[in-house]
Amino acid sequence: MTIEKVGIIGAGQMGNGIAHVSALAKLDVKMVDTNPAQLNKALETIRGNMNRQVKRGMFSQAEEDAAINRIKVSQNLADLKDCDIVIEAATEKEEVKKEIMRAVSPLLKPEALIASNTSSISITRLAAATDRPQKFIGMHFMNPVPLMKLVELIRGLATDDDTFNQVRELAEKLGKTTATSEDFPAFIVNRILLPMINEAVYTLYEGVGNVEAIDTAMRLGANHPMGPLELADFIGLDVCLAVMQVLYEGLADSKYRPCPLLVKYVEAGWYGKKAGRGFYDYSGETPIPTR
Ligand code: NAD
Repeated sequence: MTIEKVGIIGAGQMGNGIAHVSALAKLDVKMVDTNPAQLNKALETIRGNMNRQVKRGMFSQAEEDAAINRIKVSQNLADLKDCDIVIEAATEKEEVKKEIMRAVSPLLKPEALIASNTSSISITRLAAATDRPQKFIGMHFMNPVPLMKLVELIRGLATDDDTFNQVRELAEKLGKTTATSEDFPAFIVNRILLPMINEAVYTLYEGVGNVEAIDTAMRLGANHPMGPLELADFIGLDVCLAVMQVLYEGLADSKYRPCPLLVKYVEAGWYGKKAGRGFYDYSGETPIPTR
């Protein structure tokens, strides 16, 4: 099967990025979200990001227009029925994802593949909520999708070779390089990255340094392009907490205990950049540290 039609479930930061790169690769895209405001915002974001790429000479205005025309949005999962692959990029909660899998599986054609962009949740468990575990795989894009080169591929226990090969080819067609991870909590990138971010939040919580000191220290002292707290805001503090909870519960090791300050920020709805406030306040021209 040649993959020509891609369905995307969830039109948040990741869903809109996956739609962006898929449409530019000349694939037809159907993006579904339960929240119509998110669908409108996603289209606006894609257009804004593509406009910037046109200004940089990466492709022409005509190519942008053609790509935008390839993206259709809907609130109805049934509109994914003719897709060759559906990539789920909804909220990082196992029950939400399982419910989506149970609802979407019977609507798809038998040969259609299903992938999840989950940052941490077991691919084998999500696969078991579908009617086709052998055609299910983890396809973990990085944020922001149009800029980041990596896609982590995660096979569930039942994933067959054909599915793996087709999804690897799709990732390459989208201009990405793949790295394969076994199905362990948070896979490779987040198994290493999120405990570092969580430790940065502990460093703030314990008063070792303020937001500015911690981010400056890691940018200039470890040569990271972004400080860990800035990066946490960018990822979304709700996503960071969800990943730490999966690590803590999945590996049953206290070294993964989510920092209470991270929990508090999420409880306050301070999810980071997408909410306008996290470790930085994004209401002005430039982000201001909040502690
Ligand atoms: P987000 O909060 O920006 O978007 C999630 C979207 O899912 C929202 O638009 C929401 O309305 C939608 N949604 C929720 N329930 C739904 C349902 N039942 N049906 C359809 N849509 C539904 O989150 P995000 O940052 O885009 O993360 C999405 C997924 O990608 C998560 O699994 C996350 O772990 C993963 N991920 C995130 C990052 C990151 O840096 N943020 C990186 C890689 C992977």
